[in-house]
Amino acid sequence: MSLRGIGMTSQRTRTRMIERLRDQGIADERVLAAMAAVPRHIFVEEALSSRAYDDTALPLGFQQTISRPYVVARMIELLLTGHALGKTLEVGAGCGYQAAVLAMLTRELYAVERIEPLLARARKNLGQLRLSHVRFKHADGHWGLPEAAPFDTIIVAAAAASTPPALLDQLAPGGRLILPLAGAAKGEQTLSLIERTASGYAETRYDVVRFVPLVAGVE
Ligand code: SAH
Repeated sequence: MSLRGIGMTSQRTRTRMIERLRDQGIADERVLAAMAAVPRHIFVEEALSSRAYDDTALPLGFQQTISRPYVVARMIELLLTGHALGKTLEVGAGCGYQAAVLAMLTRELYAVERIEPLLARARKNLGQLRLSHVRFKHADGHWGLPEAAPFDTIIVAAAAASTPPALLDQLAPGGRLILPLAGAAKGEQTLSLIERTASGYAETRYDVVRFVPLVAGVE
């Protein structure tokens, strides 16, 4: 698949995705510029590439999905409000799409993924885009990444029943963690933004979302 793409994967299609994100309320120009720059079609299987810019989650194999563009934009916009990303950890790199968007916005990015073939795909995709400053690790993100902690930002791309304590521990003072957490209603998830304050942690809940589960162990 070429980087520039043709027809349904062209820059024009990507520009339409950005216009749709604006209509959906994404206003941070840094997020919109990063998403305009990353060719989403190279991250999905060739057979699905004509749908790469639709506002939908798409299958990645291994029962995993690449998050829909709106949710990627929304999470990063919430993290960027009043802050720079700084040193960032992504848990659940998948095919690397969100990592590529994050890599446009920070110099220091670590990404962990528990499924080795997906991690290999993420590495290859970011290499193709020459985003060589991202450090990947095959690991269970429940434990964060102690050797690189503390982080200014942690972003989790899979839903947890409760916040993994290691991720809270690995937040720098003033640092922020965003993750989909199980909500009050059965099967419901909400985006939760947790900030490390001088006296503890402050949590704000946002949109209802649907993510694949955060799973323990590696494969
Ligand atoms: N950010 C990805 C989304 C992938 S879906 C993208 O842009 O494509 C969520 C990913 O989280 C899956 O690849 C899944 O394997 C991974 N995941 C689930 N539990 C995990 C864990 N405990 N540690 C690391 N990765 C995990």
